[in-house]
Amino acid sequence: SMTKSQVLQWIENCNEVMTAQRDYLTQLDTEIGDADHGLNMQRGFSKALEKVATVSEKDIGTILKTVGTTLLSQVGGASGPLYGSLFIKGAQSAVGKEEISNDELITVLKQGVEGIIARGRAEIGDKTMCDVWLPVLAELDAADKSQPLAVLLESAVKKAEESVAATIPLIAKKGRASYLGERSAGHQDPGATSTMYMIKALYDAVK
Ligand code: ADP
Ligand code: MG
Ligand code: MG
Repeated sequence: SMTKSQVLQWIENCNEVMTAQRDYLTQLDTEIGDADHGLNMQRGFSKALEKVATVSEKDIGTILKTVGTTLLSQVGGASGPLYGSLFIKGAQSAVGKEEISNDELITVLKQGVEGIIARGRAEIGDKTMCDVWLPVLAELDAADKSQPLAVLLESAVKKAEESVAATIPLIAKKGRASYLGERSAGHQDPGATSTMYMIKALYDAVK
């Protein structure tokens, strides 16, 4: 299970990793986008962390929703509304909770990713963040949920890392990278990479 303080730690870890990886994410977005993904993520999570401090006494649902509305309103570009939807939709299954079970966390992520898909309409193989979220969710779904959360998330991180690498040969079908057509192949997707960091940040919060 995951406590509220671990949820707060997750957001803190997201801020830390997006700050540390800002230039790398921007580099990836320079190759197949408009060179702002690192700044978008770093700015988004630093604002989210600020906002979360004002609701840290509230339930997990409120905390996650606050992260989502902040990302939605503060981050320009495709990734802001998409990650905003992840946290806003995910928050709905954590309303009123001070602690969530492994199953409930997986539901939060599942509802969140449904939110990403409802907004962005990406399918598997389109070279987006969904190419990490969907295999990671499938892995979590298939796992024995009675294991400690850290064990479950450790294999989720491994899956996320493999999935990020698997975006390299893909031709982008959604977002700015799709304007490049076949020239988008041979580059790692920036949003898939930030999703992998988000999952690592989650693991680091519970390990
Ligand atoms: P922008 O492309 O508007 O500058 P960012 O650079 O912050 O926004 O984010 C780009 C990332 O967003 C991409 O690498 C991709 O993973 C993700 N993305 C773009 N469009 C979609 C979509 N329709 N569905 C899912 N993810 C998407
Ligand atoms: Mg961009
Ligand atoms: Mg942009």
